[in-house]
Amino acid sequence: MSDTIEKDILRGGQFLVKETKCEDVFTLEDLDEEQKMMRESTKEFVDRELWAHWERFEKKDYAYTEECMKKAGELGLLSVAVPESYGGMGMGFVSTMLVCDYISGATGSFSTAFGAHTGIGTMPITLYGTEEQKQKYVPKLATGEWFGAYCLTEPGAGSDANSGKTKAVLSEDGTYYSISGQKMWISNAGFCNMFIVFARIEDDKNITGFIVENDPENGISLGDEEKKLGIHSSSTRQVFFNETKVPVENMLSERGNGFKIAMNALNIGRIKLAAACLEAQRRIVNEATKYANERIQFKTPIMNFGAIKAKIADMATNAYVDEAACYRAAKNIEDRIAIREASGNSHQEAELKGVEEYAIECSILKVAVSEHVQHTTDEGIQVFGGMGFSADTPMESAWRDARISRIYEGTNEINRMLSVGMLVKKAMKGHVDLLGPATAVGEELMGIPSFETPDFSELFAEEKDLVARLKKVFLMVAGSAVQKFGPDLEKHQMLLMAASDILIQVYMAESAILRTEKNAKRFGEDSQAAQIAMSKLYLYRAVDIIQQKAKEGIVSFAEGDEQRMMLMGLKRFTKYTNQPNVVALRTQIADKVAADNGYTFD
Ligand SMILES: Cc1cc2nc3c(=O)[nH]c(=O)nc-3n(C[C@H](O)[C@H](O)[C@H](O)COP(=O)(O)OP(=O)(O)OC[C@H]3O[C@@H](n4cnc5c(N)ncnc54)[C@H](O)[C@@H]3O)c2cc1C
Repeated sequence: MSDTIEKDILRGGQFLVKETKCEDVFTLEDLDEEQKMMRESTKEFVDRELWAHWERFEKKDYAYTEECMKKAGELGLLSVAVPESYGGMGMGFVSTMLVCDYISGATGSFSTAFGAHTGIGTMPITLYGTEEQKQKYVPKLATGEWFGAYCLTEPGAGSDANSGKTKAVLSEDGTYYSISGQKMWISNAGFCNMFIVFARIEDDKNITGFIVENDPENGISLGDEEKKLGIHSSSTRQVFFNETKVPVENMLSERGNGFKIAMNALNIGRIKLAAACLEAQRRIVNEATKYANERIQFKTPIMNFGAIKAKIADMATNAYVDEAACYRAAKNIEDRIAIREASGNSHQEAELKGVEEYAIECSILKVAVSEHVQHTTDEGIQVFGGMGFSADTPMESAWRDARISRIYEGTNEINRMLSVGMLVKKAMKGHVDLLGPATAVGEELMGIPSFETPDFSELFAEEKDLVARLKKVFLMVAGSAVQKFGPDLEKHQMLLMAASDILIQVYMAESAILRTEKNAKRFGEDSQAAQIAMSKLYLYRAVDIIQQKAKEGIVSFAEGDEQRMMLMGLKRFTKYTNQPNVVALRTQIADKVAADNGYTFD
């Protein structure tokens, strides 16, 4: 632990203004033996219980989802994040992400049930519960004796989660609250034993959280199962509370603290949701590769066509980059928790603050990885051609299942705005110095550019230099927008969306390069040839996106000389000295994936 404390780990959002050394990022290749074993037993469980019965999840076999959740509980897979004192395994954040990642790829139905139970259904109690609440509920949730669900959303309160109308009225004798209201889209509602419910007391500004046991005799009733596009065997119902009596000791944290609980539960949920979109990508690449290697058209396997190779290369690249970014952030969170515990925080406080610190990264990951899995499943269908459109192959359901990830745990629009909004707030509070670097970028724009030819002979020298300049693009665009609009910036959503896309691309591209650089240093460059190609390909694509989004912002809010200067800056900051050969990169990646008959980079 002392190592961790001594290490100058980046604070949330600081990746934008500080250089990260490759030695300081955690990668999947750093897993210890215990973590590798955990991964293997999770994979075995998935292959045996989920993947082998994939059709049952498509046929709305809700009972099978519940049965699998019980089995996961018996194997300890529901308790990885739960402290040992409450019957859990008490493993670190990286291990939690690992289980969430590998358990989630076979079907979105199980993945959603697992996430709703272990994340938003259990975490509010482990993070905010009293000792009595934790002793009473957490051991049951950790083993799968009980299942949890999370009731925040209402018909009139979705993204605007603090606007719910569900009421909690204190009884005259002060012993219980009477909760009445309607919740909708509640995952696990059909089989859970307990709900985390958010309700408003009197006319409080903020909602309050409660632990509510599921007892139909206590005014709790359910709507029918929702008919959904995907995740067919994930139970999703409305939940009606009609004067449901909840003992006062079941209030979570303090009165009016519910919105904070809800948001912090979602921060953790977001990074875990990103992890939950990783294994699906690997499996899609595996299936698409096998199919492309076997499917003959024009007397040759379709894998030999450049059009198919380009898809396989992009799909594998997204998965690789997403792994890099997810585990980088996961370890940052784990280290931050350790630092806080070492400085006297309880595990509960440390975990809360640790995750809150990286809320920007959690939002970035949620958006990036959920969009990548969507793209990958879409291209997976395309590789399968007509067979991809058939419900007899897993591509069709994977595509439908992937869609929800862009909606729940805060829509991607909300998360995009949050990522930039939180960063600006952190800067205002002095937690991340954006002003200094933004001013320096402004001065650089006024100055004369250097005409020296840089030495880019070392691996990733040019790419790292480029990433550093891409960060300047964000500082230039966002800094100038903050100056122009001040607190009104939040009203300029189109600009925020563009700024967020720049931020996302910077984090993802940098994470991939750092992962690969670290591995090239320790395992040798030759062993990382395809990974080097993937890192370069992703950066090339990121530069394109950043150019487009930054230009969109600059031409919309800057005028005259300022606009001209910023456009020149954009050109300078996104310039390659040596353009990569993109066709060669894609060919190299696809050939490696084809030769391995699947994704072999994890
Ligand atoms: C299958 C499924 C499972 C779910 N499970 C749960 C669960 O277990 N518990 C739970 O509490 N909830 C759950 N939800 C609810 C989910 O979290 C919400 O659907 C989500 O937060 C969006 O809310 P909404 O559907 O009301 O959409 P809205 O908030 O009405 O949004 C509609 C559109 O408007 C956009 N929008 C909204 N506000 C803004 C804004 N300020 N600026 C810009 N754009 C905006 C959104 O991004 C979206 O594109 C689930 C939903 C689904 C579909």
